Amino acid sequence: MVKTLKDPYGMKGALSMAVIETDVIIIGAGPAGLMAANVLQKRGVDFVCLEKKPGRSVLSKALGIQARSLELFEFLGVNKPFVKRGYPGPGAKIHLAGKKPSYVEMYHVKSRYPYLLIIPQHEIEEILETHLNDRGGVISREHEVLNVVQEQEGVYVTASHNGETKQYLAKYVLACDGAHSKVRQLLDVEFVGEDEGITFFTGDVEIPEMKEIHINLHINDRGAAAFFPYKDGSYRVVGFDRTRQKGPRRKEMKLQELQTSLDTILTTSYQVEKPRWLGYFGTAHRQVPNYREDRVFFVGDAAHINNPLGGQGMNIGLEDVANLCWKIDTVLKGYAGSPFLDTYHEERAPVAKEVIRNTTLELKMIQLKGFPGKVRNWAGKAALTQNWVQAIFAKALSHVHNDYDKTPINRSFKDKSLPRRAIQAGERVPDQLLFMNGTTDERLFPLIQRLGYVCLIYIDSYQPDLVDFAYAFAEKANEAFPDMIKVFLVARGGTVLTERNELPIIYDSYRHLDRNLGMRKGSMLFIRPDGHVGFHDGSADLKKVMGKLKRYFI
Ligand SMILES: Cc1cc2nc3c(=O)[nH]c(=O)nc-3n(C[C@H](O)[C@H](O)[C@H](O)COP(=O)(O)OP(=O)(O)OC[C@H]3O[C@@H](n4cnc5c(N)ncnc54)[C@H](O)[C@@H]3O)c2cc1C
Repeated sequence: MVKTLKDPYGMKGALSMAVIETDVIIIGAGPAGLMAANVLQKRGVDFVCLEKKPGRSVLSKALGIQARSLELFEFLGVNKPFVKRGYPGPGAKIHLAGKKPSYVEMYHVKSRYPYLLIIPQHEIEEILETHLNDRGGVISREHEVLNVVQEQEGVYVTASHNGETKQYLAKYVLACDGAHSKVRQLLDVEFVGEDEGITFFTGDVEIPEMKEIHINLHINDRGAAAFFPYKDGSYRVVGFDRTRQKGPRRKEMKLQELQTSLDTILTTSYQVEKPRWLGYFGTAHRQVPNYREDRVFFVGDAAHINNPLGGQGMNIGLEDVANLCWKIDTVLKGYAGSPFLDTYHEERAPVAKEVIRNTTLELKMIQLKGFPGKVRNWAGKAALTQNWVQAIFAKALSHVHNDYDKTPINRSFKDKSLPRRAIQAGERVPDQLLFMNGTTDERLFPLIQRLGYVCLIYIDSYQPDLVDFAYAFAEKANEAFPDMIKVFLVARGGTVLTERNELPIIYDSYRHLDRNLGMRKGSMLFIRPDGHVGFHDGSADLKKVMGKLKRYFI
């Protein structure tokens, strides 16, 4: 909507100008901004996405999509083009001195995507933008944000477009404008942390002699080098050369410099050729103290950066978006108040904090040399022969266990009466095979993708009071939150003896919901649109669960 407002910034004497009103402004169209545009588009939220560059970056930068990001792409309905175009890397082969490598295998990850999907960032951005465009969404390119001012009525954003100044007013702003965030500077928000002082080399090259299906990582006293196989047979190479750490850092790198570094680091080197992209970069770890500044939210690299070990930076940005956008939509629809949006920082900040802690430690470990380096190699090799150690690494890298169950609010929803195996408020809901009445074969994730909020109520076909409870809850929930929550009956088995047929029925014939999610007769599992548990309650008490539902949307 375009309105003419007088003096929107309180700048006395300035000319009045047309202000474009929208619900949400996304600043930046990197992976985080593009994901946000897609999620808001899917949910029908009015938004504008402002990007200063004329086209997508051609730099490959991030190259790995972790399992959790693929699950989030599935909720968006965009998982298939990624899986089709990427290479499902089965894990890493780690050379810690000596001839025999150690392995971290991703098949340990309990997800439909037990691999690191290797695909360059420019293709990730292309897939996300195409998905958006196909559904009618657009990115406003060549719109550079110059100013952001928060007022009581909303956030005013000024952007420059081909020499013209444009003004916007939004209820919320997502700062997805990257590590050097302009919004952070404008709002005077600290980016707490430090540079790590190491210069890495990177590039996309061909290596005719290399035939690797695993990520191939070499760590020794001379430095480190990792090779990531792309689907077309070329490789991303990343590493650091101890002999090239002094002097000012350049961004550009020549192919011969890369060759020299690889020859220095590797015991048996490889010839690299046909570079598509080469460069040096430094690393740092930093995080904003609060992801929320009133109506402005910091997302992705604007909120946190870490070194590239484990390929996590972009992935945690995508997860930030998935956590935030449904909450904003819920508040915009009037189902929750502004404090509900505080849970974005509460849930997401600890995840980046842990990634920063781990990647900082890993970088220190990789830099060890001499005797400490030998100890690292010995301990690393011994540990990685154990399947359970590999499983811990694989799970941590995949992000499928980035649960939010430790936040004070989610803790307050924990139902201790449920079995120990029961998933509780804040935890990720793993996908399950379902026997849906009237269909052949269904899974839980597509239900979440189609419906958003999903509520499962476990009943017994021979206990009509539980069926009545489920119907009464569905009615009350619909009165309080019209058309928001889709309720399903989950029957342990047998025919459901009820005259009514409005609620769809899932038969827990495989006992997956019982065994894997800890559901039992009378329990209600309320699932959020990002695939985490809202709450799981075992009371079958209508007053109690309605109280919880209302308290959930503070
Ligand atoms: C060499 C390298 C290797 C990496 N490898 C990995 C990896 O393997 N795995 C991984 O997960 N991550 C990796 N990363 C990190 C990853 O690239 C970032 O985490 C990711 O790009 C962050 O996405 P973002 O959308 O938050 O920010 P960005 O990608 O930085 O996007 C920000 C966008 O905002 C726009 N913008 C900025 N200011 C304005 C403004 N004033 N007005 C309008 N638009 C603006 C920019 O033009 C840009 O398009 C790597 C990074 C580098 C540099």
